[in-house]
Amino acid sequence: MDVKHKKYLPRSGADIPRFAGIPTFMRLPHVDLATAAGEVDIGIVGVPWDGGTTNRPGARHGPRQMRDLSTMVRSVHHVTGTMPFHTASCADLGDSSVNPVDLLDTLDRVGAFYADLHDAGVIPLTAGGDHLITLPIMRGIAGAGNNNGPLGMVHFDAHTDTWDRYFGDNIYTHGTPFRRAIEEGLLDPKRTIQIGIRGSLFTPGDKDWGLAQGIRVVEIEEYFDLGPDKVAALAREVVGDGPTYVSFDVDGLDPVYAPGTGTPEIGGYSTHDAQRMLRGLSGIDIVGADVVEVSPAYDQSGNTALVAVTLMFEILCLIAEKVARQGRK
Ligand code: MN
Ligand code: MN
Repeated sequence: MDVKHKKYLPRSGADIPRFAGIPTFMRLPHVDLATAAGEVDIGIVGVPWDGGTTNRPGARHGPRQMRDLSTMVRSVHHVTGTMPFHTASCADLGDSSVNPVDLLDTLDRVGAFYADLHDAGVIPLTAGGDHLITLPIMRGIAGAGNNNGPLGMVHFDAHTDTWDRYFGDNIYTHGTPFRRAIEEGLLDPKRTIQIGIRGSLFTPGDKDWGLAQGIRVVEIEEYFDLGPDKVAALAREVVGDGPTYVSFDVDGLDPVYAPGTGTPEIGGYSTHDAQRMLRGLSGIDIVGADVVEVSPAYDQSGNTALVAVTLMFEILCLIAEKVARQGRK
């Protein structure tokens, strides 16, 4: 391992106890983007914003609690043996700029931040924030001027997030990001799979638009019929070899595992099955990922945040394996 890389290793819990020190993501060094450019392969980032939330707010507080609980994460994946911090250089790149009182300004700020990350050759792994943040992230990494898009997507969620508008003409909410992303040419619906969809609807036709675009929707009943390994294989088949985004809304999990979220729906998958599905995605070309909708006020134990950062570690291992296969872009 070269010196450049060595400075991006996390602090070991054997040197400084996990409960001590400043809580960065997974105890990695915190560096700014200018420092990261040319050195960091994978940047872990927070987007502390919930201005797209239509019901119970609070996901703006997700990244800070996730940083705190992420100090529990160690270095070696217990099943695959992957050591992501050794395989790729990883760092905490801080939080994107956000504006807590202006939605459109926030979309611009987040989009610009991720465009800069993309230009610096950094693959972003994000802690949300509500699910609307995925739209400006996709604009940053797959928008005009770069050769990434349109992206495929593996989307874990209880909800499709392909609604059109809310309360009149508000087209930007955490229920609409993937409709906008498809309209903007950022997301290829035919390379998109949604896993875990359930819950009561506004109208009987709520799902029609996404299905008509060609999205592969795996409702929770089909998920339980197939099981996590077959669903992961199906996801690999849908996204193929092209650039792919992984977006994990914690409300895809059953609320017994992740109660700390704004729009819980009963009858979801378990944390272990989510881990199995993520491991089953090994080999796909991940160009960005997020875990969103952690809202700490509804789970003051911190368990939902621990679940979220453990899933982030699973995804980090997948991205590190990809960096090892492909090298830096
Ligand atoms: Mn969502
Ligand atoms: Mn959801």
